[in-house]
Amino acid sequence: MLHPTEALDIILASVSQVGTEKVPLEESLGRTLADDVRAAEDLPPFDNSAMDGYAVRAADTAGASEEHPALLRVLEDLPAGGVPRCAVGAGEAVRIMTGAPVPAGADAVVMVEKTSRCNGQVAVQAPVQPGVNIRRCGEDVRRGDVCLQSGMVLRPAEIGVLASLGFATVPVARQPVVAVLSTGDELLAPEEALTPGKIRDSNSPALAAMVRRYGGVPRVDPRVPDTVTEVEAALRRVEGVDLYLTSGGVSVGDFDVVKEVLSRLGEIKFWRLAIKPGKPLVFGRLGGRPLFGLPGNPVSALVAFEQFVRPALLKMQGRRALRKAEVTAVINGYYKSRAGKVEFVRAHTTLRETVYHARICGPQGSGRLSTMSQANSLIVLPEDVTTVQAGDHVRTQMLDYPEVE
Ligand code: AMP
Ligand code: MG
Repeated sequence: MLHPTEALDIILASVSQVGTEKVPLEESLGRTLADDVRAAEDLPPFDNSAMDGYAVRAADTAGASEEHPALLRVLEDLPAGGVPRCAVGAGEAVRIMTGAPVPAGADAVVMVEKTSRCNGQVAVQAPVQPGVNIRRCGEDVRRGDVCLQSGMVLRPAEIGVLASLGFATVPVARQPVVAVLSTGDELLAPEEALTPGKIRDSNSPALAAMVRRYGGVPRVDPRVPDTVTEVEAALRRVEGVDLYLTSGGVSVGDFDVVKEVLSRLGEIKFWRLAIKPGKPLVFGRLGGRPLFGLPGNPVSALVAFEQFVRPALLKMQGRRALRKAEVTAVINGYYKSRAGKVEFVRAHTTLRETVYHARICGPQGSGRLSTMSQANSLIVLPEDVTTVQAGDHVRTQMLDYPEVE
């Protein structure tokens, strides 16, 4: 049985980036930047005021106070978007709004709260140092600098930076197309009524959602029964597919159909992992594309997806950060784990004061999908750990960001 870190190395070595495309900036949220972005302009593009106030020569305000204000002649009112018509000379000021260009001659802005206006004059009631309340040209981003790196995921902040720099479209990684196939004689569609011996297929929609969550485009194939012929026919539909994802049909005692088809039509790289849940996991290549044969148990399928499919999908998009965030948490109870396997225990982890607390989400049977829904994290118990006690510190992988209690 293969250790999960070795398995991940094999997986990552066998997937590569799927290519790039340009998308409109407003559709780029969550996409992965495909090129470094070098600023062609300074940000801000000109010296401008950080305050509503008066642009002045700092020297004119030396010694100013409420009792002895500096009286300056106001030349004009300058709104954001305006262009100064006059330079500020000794004894002069310009009324200026936040974002308006600082007029020539001025070297500071006095905030309006420290002034009073009377006819054509302003009384400045406090001294100001040169440079105060001025946002310098290029202080945020300097022309020529690389300000966003390829492989970054685009968040609202990056989209704002790109807009500021004049990007209406943005080069991003193409979204990998993932064929999602559920196998099993027992499976019904969500809308079908239950009949004896049957269950509804939860893996197709859940795995498709996972694909979407991590930047892929799912192509959900019609469910197939556990026959080699039907699985084979489904897996031959290769057009446009970047990655295959099957669930079910990979465990010993099962009909092993996915493995059989893969060994005949493609190549199996590994098929058993020292993890719980998710041991019967097949990884290989089919028609030049990677294929994950996930176990049918719904929890196993989701846990295995997080550990192995997610990093592969991210790498296919050129992402640099492939690891899930981890915290050290205090576990709330006793847990017994099998030696020789890395175990992922569903837990709800919260931050109280400065300490993370992980509460085990009940019995850990790999068919208990609702406990996966209660969990926001997986406690990772290494292969040499057999028991943990309440109060022990455990490595905890955050599936979702921890809530604060
Ligand atoms: P298998 O890996 O095919 O042996 O399936 C293991 C368990 O997962 C069995 O109880 C199956 O009924 C269940 N299972 C398999 N595929 C699905 C699916 N798509 N949705 C829900 N449960 C499934
Ligand atoms: Mg099955």
